[in-house]
Amino acid sequence: MTDGPASTQPRPEGPSPAVSRISPQPINDLLNQELTWLKGVGPRKAEVLARHGLHTVHDLLQFYPRRYLDRTSVTRIADFNAELGEITVVGRILHTQVKGFARGQRFEAELLDGSGRMTLVWFNRVAWVQKFLRAGDVIAASGKPGFYRGWQFQHPAVEKLAFEETETDPDAPSSAPEDLQYQGQVVPIYPGSEELRRAWLDSRALSRILRGLFQRHQIEVADPLPAALKQRFGLMDLSQALRDVHTGQTLQEVELARHRLKFDEFFWLELMLAWRKATTARAVKGLQFPADHGLVERLLASLPFQLTGGQRRAVDEIFRDMRSPHPMNRLLQGDVGCGKTLVALCAMLLCVDNGCQAALMAPTEILAEQHARTLIRLAEPLGLRVTLLTGSRNAASRRKALQETASGWAQIVVGTHALIQEGVKFARLGLAIIDEQHRFGVEQRAKLRRKAPVLDTLVMTATPIPRTLAIVGYGDMDISVIRELPPGRQPITTVWRRDNKRAEIFGFVRDKVQADAQAYVVYPLVEESEKLEDVKAAEKNFAELGASWLAGCRMGLLHGRMKAPEKDAVMRDFLAGRLQVLIATTVVEVGVDNPRATLMVVEQAERFGLAQLHQLRGRVGRGSGKSWCVLVAGPQLSDEGRSRLETMAATQDGFEIAEADLRMRGTGDFFGTRQSGLPEFRIADILRDTELLVVARDAAFQLLEDDPGLKGEPALREHLLTTYADRLSRVED
Ligand code: ADP
Ligand code: MG
Repeated sequence: MTDGPASTQPRPEGPSPAVSRISPQPINDLLNQELTWLKGVGPRKAEVLARHGLHTVHDLLQFYPRRYLDRTSVTRIADFNAELGEITVVGRILHTQVKGFARGQRFEAELLDGSGRMTLVWFNRVAWVQKFLRAGDVIAASGKPGFYRGWQFQHPAVEKLAFEETETDPDAPSSAPEDLQYQGQVVPIYPGSEELRRAWLDSRALSRILRGLFQRHQIEVADPLPAALKQRFGLMDLSQALRDVHTGQTLQEVELARHRLKFDEFFWLELMLAWRKATTARAVKGLQFPADHGLVERLLASLPFQLTGGQRRAVDEIFRDMRSPHPMNRLLQGDVGCGKTLVALCAMLLCVDNGCQAALMAPTEILAEQHARTLIRLAEPLGLRVTLLTGSRNAASRRKALQETASGWAQIVVGTHALIQEGVKFARLGLAIIDEQHRFGVEQRAKLRRKAPVLDTLVMTATPIPRTLAIVGYGDMDISVIRELPPGRQPITTVWRRDNKRAEIFGFVRDKVQADAQAYVVYPLVEESEKLEDVKAAEKNFAELGASWLAGCRMGLLHGRMKAPEKDAVMRDFLAGRLQVLIATTVVEVGVDNPRATLMVVEQAERFGLAQLHQLRGRVGRGSGKSWCVLVAGPQLSDEGRSRLETMAATQDGFEIAEADLRMRGTGDFFGTRQSGLPEFRIADILRDTELLVVARDAAFQLLEDDPGLKGEPALREHLLTTYADRLSRVED
């Protein structure tokens, strides 16, 4: 039901364009009129529209149709025949009915289109359809006609166009039946909601209001795009685009309008990012780290291995930034286990070599402690002083850490969120590194940067970011990518199994553990903050496994409700090999490094997202031993859950997984939170319109490169500065 009639969703061919929340500069007072000024909109409707973010005529112009119905592809019921393939019918639902009992239930709706009647039938999701479709709905239904005591569609795709009730309602539009025969060939379908519908603001009503507006008034919008640019990318005028997107007569017209509006959306975003990047680079002189007293060289000489090509490239790029007079703002992307910590340490050493302090912020205590251990092991032999600052340390050691940081005694400070608290002062902070940056909000990153007047910033992530998302989400950053893993890593054999195979699975775990392997068994939790029920489930399973398949194995339990010292003790025991099996909730997700762990079992794996599963799998295969990852599916495995598990079994490439994740979940969920600052688009779709995104990005960056102050394009400059005033300097500054 989610997919509408065939041929209604315009798909741009080749490069096409974009708008943001940015309003074009009004040169016409009509645009600022309140909506009550419009014919057909009274105070009550205006109130409902306002709740949907629509206050002025201009807002309404930017309320774009979600899709279009091409009337040339609509078939009359009277013209049905058995040879027809998938077709679309537009009509009104006369009545609906649930027939049959229990498992044999079906939902039937009688549809009338003025030429005849037909039945729509659903054999599943009966309760849902029953809620969705009601007598009086005007819909477009698409399916393949079959004949069974009359024409019918089984499980058609349905798009609601309007709602007509026979009861008297003063606000109800006159329901002339000929209204069903829409004007024009193309019927716009607007985003709907139950509230809009109840206020008689369904798709047809909105279309009528907008058509009326264009019929009665000349709508003029100033077009800030330079003519040359429009010509080069085949973009129509903005006023025309805003008109055609609502009232276009053919799909081609609509498509050209959408092309222009999409281009705008991408272009202004990218221009803003380009401007930000350019101004950051020109900003107050950043720190410069020109000295080199050989610390990095000594570190590299002390390692039992060589940096990988990717690590070396990343270090070179970072050093180039750090040696330049401009502040560094770089993102380091690399799959789990590719060795980002070492790259971070190289950057810290260069900073320290130049007499400044470096800070490394990690999202969890366990991770911060692990980083501290690594850094102490590698940097103290070089004569460096490392301090750990976390929330759970006792008052005395906390005071000591604060003092070491403030006095400058500590050259490297590692910590959690505790680092960004008020009382934390650095003597001379020069470099801020943020690990697993997606775990932090914009504000938290900003707080760390504010610990010094200017500093270099490096953020690291093990969640590979597909190129398109990097373009919109991190367009103002420089990006380094480490593609390869250190040599000698063996592929992790990944399988997924139903949970009726648990005897086999845990038998396998027991055998491996008895042969000296270490294993993780991970349970899902619903929320970021662990709920008591999840903890109970993990505890119960811990007891059960210990009493059955894993009897005799040395097991530990780790969950987010435990106190830090308890967690520490368990983790230490596991890292030291005193525990063979670690039963855990996702606190092991990020970054934990135990090269001797070679088995990962994930219970109810379908409850995890792909990115999380990938992170979890990354906990094994970190040493030279052969590793396994077994994903155990619970009894209620959805198609989507299954395809996630299959993706995991099929590939180990983080970028491939990220792309698959993006396709399955869409962009909204990708970064998990709004905080990521990923813009919302009204008409452009970064997955479908990727080519256009790249075109618009290149156009925007090129424009600023040729004319850094945009002096040659005053209209463009003016528009950028007024509409993006609040976003032109980085949120984090
Ligand atoms: P991540 O990128 O996931 O943070 P880590 O920095 O934790 O990865 O590194 C994973 C493991 O790989 C560590 O045990 C580290 O010592 C090791 N390692 C890092 N670089 C190399 C290398 N060039 N050759 C061999 N092992 C390496
Ligand atoms: Mg890491």
